Amino acid sequence: LNQIMAKSISNGVKRVYLDYAASTPIHPKVSKAMADFDAKYFGNPNSLHREGQEARAKIDLARADIAKFISAQPQEIIFTSGATESNNLAIQGVVSFAINEFSFKPHIITTKIEHPSVYKIIKTLEERGVVSATYISPDKSGIINPEEVIAAIRHETVLISVIFVSNEIGTIVPVRAIGKLLAEINDKQKHKIIFHTDAAQAIKYENCNVEKINCDLLTFSGHKIYGPKGIGVLYVKTGTKINSLFYGGQQEYKLRPGTQNTPGIIGFAKAIELMGSLDKRLDSAKKITTLRDQLISGLTKIPNIVLNGPGGKEGTSDLVSITIYGIDQESLLASLDLAGISVSTGSACISGAVEPSHVIVALGRINNRRAASVRFTLGAKTTAEEIKYTINTFTTIVRRLDR
Ligand code: PMP
Repeated sequence: LNQIMAKSISNGVKRVYLDYAASTPIHPKVSKAMADFDAKYFGNPNSLHREGQEARAKIDLARADIAKFISAQPQEIIFTSGATESNNLAIQGVVSFAINEFSFKPHIITTKIEHPSVYKIIKTLEERGVVSATYISPDKSGIINPEEVIAAIRHETVLISVIFVSNEIGTIVPVRAIGKLLAEINDKQKHKIIFHTDAAQAIKYENCNVEKINCDLLTFSGHKIYGPKGIGVLYVKTGTKINSLFYGGQQEYKLRPGTQNTPGIIGFAKAIELMGSLDKRLDSAKKITTLRDQLISGLTKIPNIVLNGPGGKEGTSDLVSITIYGIDQESLLASLDLAGISVSTGSACISGAVEPSHVIVALGRINNRRAASVRFTLGAKTTAEEIKYTINTFTTIVRRLDR
């Protein structure tokens, strides 16, 4: 496979990048803002001298802008190294506090469609006997029912952690409905159940106003929105009972020690500014939905292909995931890459060398024949011609491989 991939690097075919959910190219204005900042402000923002305080003032402004984007207070924004770390801090931080505070074993409610940086933490804590957990199943099209989430609450429940937009199958989870139902329960609870949502894929097109979602913790990350890699945020609502995971200095309101990634913070704020108002984001979502629907309609005409996830209004605007039977992941990925198309693939075969993703398993789409899952994610530069080329190329490749 590596040899085939190496060939594709140099074959001169025009690239069609359809993996924006994995990462986006950095916006030139973001790079410039970071370079300008870096050239001038090198001080440690925690130092009390002028160089430090100048850097501090800049990151305070960026923090305030980022807070405003989700309707939070600046002191509720904790900078991390990305969504993975934010999710770890959210879940492990809440569990760590709960273990010290309560005499019972903490219970967590989550779903079967979480990103591994949520799913694996909870699985591991459960396997170690630290917590018990309930994993809410999606229906066949990947939809999560908010009432099922709430019905799983027990006396020992301390945390609900639910993805906002699935990075694998595009489901938009009704987090506002969960937040609303939970608020009613929390009014009568002895200890408050904390609500966390991973919004890494949601901040592009969804309203992430934390007051409207009624969440206590919200994760997002810079490199999914044409910002830099290695910078993320955990929103922590004032008063949330959570412990820090690392030992060190007092940075980030004592929740995340270590010198901040100052240029990353500047770039992150710039990327958010460039996304613009909610109206502008919804407008971009509408445009990209048209391309998504063309892709869905072209791909689902191919035999042996089923759509993963809901599509339509319940699916995010920029993502198409399919399972294709009779073909394995590696040959498909290699052929697509040679044809210039970059997508994300997974196995959908239970007996293969590569383990299928827990999300595809949860949809019941796995098989003991050869089968692959493919995720296409569209972005700012995706064109109708690229979608057409992708459908035609995919159809030809599938015909060739499915013999
Ligand atoms: N959560 C979701 C939903 C994601 O899509 C991703 C990125 N694949 C992450 C978490 C991890 O983000 P990061 O790369 O910033 O750690």
